[in-house]
Amino acid sequence: MAGKFNTVVVGGGCLGIATAISLAARLRKQGKDPSSICLIDKFVLAGGLTARHSGIVRSANADAGAAKLAKAASEMWLNIENIWDVELEPERCGAIWIAKKDAQGTNEKWDILEKNLIKDKIRFSKITIDEARDLTPDFVQLNEDEVFYYEPDALQYDPADVRRALYEGVRRSNITLMEKTEVIGFRKNTNGLISNVITNKEVLSCDHVVNAAGAWAPSIFAKLSISVPVSVEPVYVVNWLTSLADKKVDMPIIADYVNRAYFRSWRDGEIHMHQPRKRAIQQTSSAFAENPLGLLGADFLNDPSNQALGYSQTRIYEDISKKRFSNVQQTVFSSGFRSYFDITPDLKFILGPDTKVKNLFHCLGSGQAFKFAPAFGEMMAEFVLEPGRLSELGKNFSISRFEGGFMEQFWNRVTGQNYTLETENASL
Ligand SMILES: Cc1cc2nc3c(=O)[nH]c(=O)nc-3n(C[C@H](O)[C@H](O)[C@H](O)COP(=O)(O)OP(=O)(O)OC[C@H]3O[C@@H](n4cnc5c(N)ncnc54)[C@H](O)[C@@H]3O)c2cc1C
Repeated sequence: MAGKFNTVVVGGGCLGIATAISLAARLRKQGKDPSSICLIDKFVLAGGLTARHSGIVRSANADAGAAKLAKAASEMWLNIENIWDVELEPERCGAIWIAKKDAQGTNEKWDILEKNLIKDKIRFSKITIDEARDLTPDFVQLNEDEVFYYEPDALQYDPADVRRALYEGVRRSNITLMEKTEVIGFRKNTNGLISNVITNKEVLSCDHVVNAAGAWAPSIFAKLSISVPVSVEPVYVVNWLTSLADKKVDMPIIADYVNRAYFRSWRDGEIHMHQPRKRAIQQTSSAFAENPLGLLGADFLNDPSNQALGYSQTRIYEDISKKRFSNVQQTVFSSGFRSYFDITPDLKFILGPDTKVKNLFHCLGSGQAFKFAPAFGEMMAEFVLEPGRLSELGKNFSISRFEGGFMEQFWNRVTGQNYTLETENASL
């Protein structure tokens, strides 16, 4: 493909790849050339935060808009062969959510969540401890002071299979792929639109640009004087090796809000765990106050000196795991690493057109992007080429919400002047 690209997608993580594939498919349907979609990554595809995800796809979410999108995305994952033209099979393992009982013997907030999700046709229902026991292997310890909710449609993937499928989807789409190519700047035309994307190898002409650069976005788009409010929060991942002689190693995903950890079965006979994003505004704001991305960009995420797990961190995870798994007493540390969630000040995505540069579209995931990838890809194609149902839902997550004093209020809440953020509502 020479000349002008229809769209240049900056960033080849799961969101950039999904966007490029959906755009190419639409162009093809219109009888146009799919290679006029250009996907650029400064390293290799799916090598950023997309190399770190746990492969979990679930719809339950305390934010109704996010839950609707997650449901749409889950359905698309099940039909991914037709959408991305790739072979990728999920494990239909379901998920058990565990919370602490309140004084009334239930968990009122979660009961409300259950009602809201059912209204949106997301299967999420309270189950008894005995039903939870039937769904889990013997080594999962469930307690009488806990309540259990079951999301039968939750899926899990092997991230290595996902990465292969993402490459295959790109190859079959006939997108123009530029790996190991860094976007270093932009040129605007007299109308204030981006006319060129400048890379370290060549200057590209284009009609549209999609920002799918995740944690790297703030430093890239600062060059256009656009502030993309994304920062990162560290998270640790540990895999425990269990005995293959255990009766039933397969288990549902366990979203353990008593011990603040997600667990899933991992590869052959391992239990994988990491903690969820932090919800309290003080914690979120420290990630922004430290703001390593503004100056450095996000390359430090992949710096080898930044990957190691500390001894004490592993021991803390072991303590947490032992509360839930009787077999972790005798288990072996298999592997672990330090990683990062990409976060926004309100822990919600940034989706859709920029407010200043009209041919720039943002697609950032806010810490849970993998599960949304097929839906966000289609949504971006709608935003760029023709509006539709998903872009309508995406309007709730516009970057415009951070304008008009949002950040000032954010800092006021941190300092305690107006501490009203409903942290529970940020995300579950
Ligand atoms: C431990 C852990 C577990 C997780 N588990 C789950 C899960 O189970 N389910 C889920 O939904 N989510 C999960 N996530 C979140 C998920 O991994 C991320 O939200 C998602 O991968 C982000 O994808 P992305 O495409 O937005 O960003 P990235 O994958 O980070 O992609 C951004 C890309 O931009 C490229 N780039 C940067 N600068 C430039 C430049 N100048 N020019 C060109 N390219 C550039 C980078 O090289 C990178 O490839 C998890 C995250 C972590 C850390």
